[in-house]
Amino acid sequence: MKYPKLREIKGALKSFFSRPYTTKYPKRPHIPFSSFRGRPYYYEDKCIGCTACVNVCPTKALSFKDVISGNKAKRVLTINWDVCIACGQCELNCVSVEGIMLSNEFDIATTEERSTLRQTIEKEMILCEHCNSAFACKDHLHWTIEKLGALYPPNTTLLAFNQNALSLNAKTPKKEGSISREDRFRVLCPECRREAVFTS
Ligand code: SF4
Ligand code: SF4
Repeated sequence: MKYPKLREIKGALKSFFSRPYTTKYPKRPHIPFSSFRGRPYYYEDKCIGCTACVNVCPTKALSFKDVISGNKAKRVLTINWDVCIACGQCELNCVSVEGIMLSNEFDIATTEERSTLRQTIEKEMILCEHCNSAFACKDHLHWTIEKLGALYPPNTTLLAFNQNALSLNAKTPKKEGSISREDRFRVLCPECRREAVFTS
């Protein structure tokens, strides 16, 4: 087009006499809008270690690893901010609602190692009393019991777990050998429970 349209001239004049849309960042700190999606953080006291957020993360910025040492186990959950795209899926699908939340932090550029762009939390796990595998986080079972209320006792793993937590269970020594029906009243992983119920 040879001549600018009146609309463009009007826009240019208006912009000339109004404040700029751009900010003075980095000379002055930029304060993002409250709805801005910045890097996410885990909140260890609110997270129950269910790993739903890991499953929905499209970039694999979230990961977890179960570590067993003797008769103790923990789940280590990690956020790698360098591959996070701040899509918000983790926060949206968080089972405990406040286990992971996005902040409004946008400026994460660094000259340090990539490993500094990481947050790690640890959740205590429980072990199957038969096969010794780590199968759930303690807080996840407490959360499930609270959600189910009076409906939780038919699940004998939850029942035995809660009785252990309240010190109501007499500690009976584990029998050597294959699993038997009386083991159903122990804290068992899903595989051992199926075996105790259907094959013993
Ligand atoms: S905001 Fe998106 S990319 Fe980043 S950790 Fe959450 S789900 Fe993954
Ligand atoms: S509670 Fe939320 S943050 Fe924690 S593992 Fe589950 S989905 Fe992720």
